[in-house]
Amino acid sequence: LGVRMERILVSACLLGQRVRYDGGGFDPLQQLLEWQAQGRLVVVCPEVDGGLPTPRPPAGIPGGQGADVLAGRLPVHTDQGEDVTAPFVRGAEQALALVRRHGIRYALLKARSPSCGNVETYDGSFSGVRVSGEGVAAAALRQAGVRVFNEEQLADLAALLQS
Ligand code: SF4
Repeated sequence: LGVRMERILVSACLLGQRVRYDGGGFDPLQQLLEWQAQGRLVVVCPEVDGGLPTPRPPAGIPGGQGADVLAGRLPVHTDQGEDVTAPFVRGAEQALALVRRHGIRYALLKARSPSCGNVETYDGSFSGVRVSGEGVAAAALRQAGVRVFNEEQLADLAALLQS
């Protein structure tokens, strides 16, 4: 594991916390439970940390690019048309604060979320259309030099940490 034990920022919903917009969470993967037992995980839910309630309406970015939200060029809105840009940006800032506090270089975040997605997101039309893009927090973390993986890339992250 190298000289120091790398800590990993992880999406709360991937650890089973019921923080998703629909009030759900996911059964944690075995590797995550092991890292948790080793005290390596720092848990984040950018949407809840940013002040949004659970459950909450689904939200999306028109065009799906979190970096454009951070740059003030695009909003995040709910399927009911409410602007939730401010809590999304606050949540991304809180994720950054955690990373700085703990010296974190790696994150494992939920795929395709408008906050946490690292490779793909939805296009903001709420019709299930996926685009190549990032969520708001994932974009902020990448810009800060954090390597962001999603749960489908867990084996890649595990291999990297063992090398
Ligand atoms: Fe929270 Fe990210 Fe999971 Fe959404 S995907 S519930 S923002 S941790």
